[in-house]
Amino acid sequence: MYELMEGYKSPWLTEELDILQDAVKKFYTREFLPHAEKWIDQGKVDRDAWNKAGEAGLLCASISEEYGGGGGTFAHEMIIDQELHRAGIPGFANSVHSGIVAHYIQSYGTEEQKKKWLPKMASGELVGAIAMTEPGTGSDLQNVRSTALKSGNEYVINGQKTFITNGQNAELICVIVKTDPSAGGKGVSLVMVETEEVEGFRRGRNLDKLGQKAADTSELFFDDVRVPLTNLLGAEEGQGFYQLMQQLPQERIIIASSAVVTMEKALFHTTEYVKERTAFGKRILDFQNTQFKLAECKTEAAIARTFVDQCVVRLLKGELDATTAAMAKYWCTDKENEIVDTCLQFFGGFGYMNEYPIARMYADSRVQKIYGGTNEIMKMLIARTL
Ligand SMILES: Cc1cc2nc3c(=O)[nH]c(=O)nc-3n(C[C@H](O)[C@H](O)[C@H](O)COP(=O)(O)OP(=O)(O)OC[C@H]3O[C@@H](n4cnc5c(N)ncnc54)[C@H](O)[C@@H]3O)c2cc1C
Repeated sequence: MYELMEGYKSPWLTEELDILQDAVKKFYTREFLPHAEKWIDQGKVDRDAWNKAGEAGLLCASISEEYGGGGGTFAHEMIIDQELHRAGIPGFANSVHSGIVAHYIQSYGTEEQKKKWLPKMASGELVGAIAMTEPGTGSDLQNVRSTALKSGNEYVINGQKTFITNGQNAELICVIVKTDPSAGGKGVSLVMVETEEVEGFRRGRNLDKLGQKAADTSELFFDDVRVPLTNLLGAEEGQGFYQLMQQLPQERIIIASSAVVTMEKALFHTTEYVKERTAFGKRILDFQNTQFKLAECKTEAAIARTFVDQCVVRLLKGELDATTAAMAKYWCTDKENEIVDTCLQFFGGFGYMNEYPIARMYADSRVQKIYGGTNEIMKMLIARTL
């Protein structure tokens, strides 16, 4: 849509991925875009959007075919997510469902767990969510207070979670709990909860957010929720923190890549606008301030694109380290916010109107510096390697 560098193509793209990109774009235009405004108004995507995406093969694209997935790589996941952001539908949190939850199951689940949950996630029969954050604990995940304590052949889960993406639609939730509350980070485990199979689970408010309005971001309550011991992810208790750390690079690259798409979109809409709009008898583009600012934005977006592409290449080879992923997440989302803000200014008052995509991008971008680990936490991780 917007060419940052003449003739540049992401090095990880292939002919097959080009075809996927085209098909995914058509799918979003046909199936999702007509409902986008309604989803924003109601604060969540329609539940059947997940089934439609499943039928079209857009869920669990990088999960092995053996478990009902698409048998692709992380590159397939990237294409599906990037096109979603290009289409302007960030509320459909497939990145959490396919990019995170399904991968926890594939990486740490038993054969039985994988066979039970992954095919249903791939078809859209089950929507996934990951519940880490609590009202009292976000960044400091080692201090979660929710517990899953053994009682016979079951875990009894108690606690409260908040800000959980897909919180209203999800039926399969990966809950971060303490199985040993006295063991600090070593007592953290991941336990799966199938919401339709248990008692004591309750969804709280679908939270009213600044942006990303079509995403259902919710409170969740667990009151003596009983699940079988076999719902633990991993061979033994206390692996949760390690499991989270292993998966984080992938999650952070998904966020960084969506940030780059937003930069490109912002530049596209803004250059179109400043070529049309006039003031003092000139196009807004003819002012040197406009040219210099947009030249800076374009350069920074190009730097972000090449950095993320290199991260994707390394990720696909299994070589991406957590520090580099943290750099990409922090820098790209900071730049996303700066660029969108700069671009919005060129729209004058129109930039503040929700009917202009740039206004939506402004509101939607802000959270990118907060979720997936705040940008301050990213800098802490990077600083540890100094
Ligand atoms: C729209 C949205 C969707 C979300 N989706 C999910 C989800 O699906 N699942 C989920 O579990 N969570 C989700 N979250 C929660 C998100 O991951 C947390 O908000 C985030 O990790 C920060 O935690 P917190 O809000 O408790 O902030 P806090 O941890 O209280 O931090 C407050 C501020 O202090 C700073 N800070 C904290 N510790 C340090 C430190 N050591 N040094 C310097 N500064 C520090 C932080 O960077 C931040 O600026 C979502 C949040 C939002 C807004």
